[in-house]
Amino acid sequence: MSDTLQLEQSPVSAGNAGLQTRLATDLRAAGLRPTRQRVALAAILFGRGHRHIAAEGLHDEAVAANVPVSLATIYNTLHQFTEAGLLRQVAIDGARTYFDTNVSDHHHFFVEGENRLIDVESPMEIDSVPAPPPGMEVTSVEVIVRVRRKPA
Ligand SMILES: [Zn+2]
Repeated sequence: MSDTLQLEQSPVSAGNAGLQTRLATDLRAAGLRPTRQRVALAAILFGRGHRHIAAEGLHDEAVAANVPVSLATIYNTLHQFTEAGLLRQVAIDGARTYFDTNVSDHHHFFVEGENRLIDVESPMEIDSVPAPPPGMEVTSVEVIVRVRRKPA
């Protein structure tokens, strides 16, 4: 009997009822109805600590966890979670968007060639933000530092 194994294989199993109850509470607190599907996707997203994931990656994990869901539903759910403040969207360019379970203000490294985001852990000060256009205010500054592996 391994609860850990059960958790990894099936987020909707009874083995993590505590997690599901907590997630349902979190969803309700965020103003979202805790449907079975939302709770199942939340368990996959938030059940393993902070991470960055693209819609396709979450879809693959849902399929692997026997959570029947379309890619369109995945997109909808990710955007609902983002609007509710449960996720933070990180757009690398027009084609690549990641969803971050760490919603605190932080910057990212983007590993070119691996399409991977890493949180910038060391303090990073931005002491000069340009004046916003007339009638607007700065809400946040997000920096993406692009990196690649050095040649061996
Ligand atoms: Zn992050």
